[in-house]
Amino acid sequence: KVLRVALMGLGSYANRVADAMKSCTKAKLVGVISGTPSKITDWQQRFDIPAANCYNYSNFDRIRDNPDIDVVYITTPNALHHGQTLRVAAAGKHVICEKPMALNAHEGADMIAACKKANVQLLVGYRMHFEPKTLEIIRMRNSGEFGKILFFQGQCGFRIGDPTQWRLNKELAGGGSLMDIGIYAINGARYMTGEEPLWVTAQETKTDPIKFNAGVDETIQFQLGFPSGAVASCLSTYNMNNLDRFFLNGEKGFAELQPSTGYGPIKGRTFKGELTQPHMTHQTVQMDEMADILLAGKQPLVAVNGEEALKDLKIIDAIYQAVKTGKKVNLA
Ligand code: NAD
Repeated sequence: KVLRVALMGLGSYANRVADAMKSCTKAKLVGVISGTPSKITDWQQRFDIPAANCYNYSNFDRIRDNPDIDVVYITTPNALHHGQTLRVAAAGKHVICEKPMALNAHEGADMIAACKKANVQLLVGYRMHFEPKTLEIIRMRNSGEFGKILFFQGQCGFRIGDPTQWRLNKELAGGGSLMDIGIYAINGARYMTGEEPLWVTAQETKTDPIKFNAGVDETIQFQLGFPSGAVASCLSTYNMNNLDRFFLNGEKGFAELQPSTGYGPIKGRTFKGELTQPHMTHQTVQMDEMADILLAGKQPLVAVNGEEALKDLKIIDAIYQAVKTGKKVNLA
């Protein structure tokens, strides 16, 4: 059986996922949800989607009565993820939601509870959790090749363009760079060290308060402390290019990825040499793996469920709190 997917929100990332899914063997795009009728017609032609599988934002609850759709993949602006997940769950369909899963941990916990209650699964689009070079570093760490982990550095950013886009609107984005690109450093700090942080400190800098208005962070540096004593130092920004780098240091050796979370190819090396795992389109691998998770109960090496995403949201909440108060925030 193939996982039958409907995409909600036909923007730039939905296009990327849809194109990548053409190469999937276990997942297939079969439906769309959009507020723009002309996009629906266009997508029907491009992806051979039957009219019975097309919905808009008013009527998509009717997906409940559609036996030909297994899961709805939400690729709308961040602020919409919470409400849309609740509606998809109530319609009895599995949910794949883009990162950040929600605007804060409170919303995230609510989404997990709603999916549990509706007996559907909630997955989040953590494509790096299926990326071969990333997984090789995690495998090496698990087998002790780096020794005791001491330090992680994650630098994630780009210079954002159009000042009118939803990513710079607090209402729709829930914040700024941290919600969009900084979450890769948070998530990366966790999967690279294999630990959950105990505390957070953070500092914000803003060079352009007009483009990045109240509540929209331009640049945040943050530090995490882990139970083993390992520490992480990270930077999230919407105002610097060429920042896509992870570095992991242990007592016996190091690993580095640069680029570390872009669409690839990811490049990396460890103290043992260059990483040579072949590049595969992230979204193709992700959707085939998610088909195995949703249809066959497969357990991925690094989780991609709502609980995993909630851990990132708790750290995001703590980072914003640390920025506001200037104080160390305990996560325990
Ligand atoms: P986008 O602006 O290109 O697309 C968003 C879509 O949502 C558009 O089609 C828009 O019409 C639709 N939409 C529906 N209701 C809307 C409303 N009320 N206001 C504005 N737009 C509305 O954005 P995107 O880059 O595709 O990002 C969408 C989501 O995907 C975000 O949560 C983002 O963080 C995530 N994303 C993830 C990755 C990844 O690598 N995993 C990459 C890019 C984006």
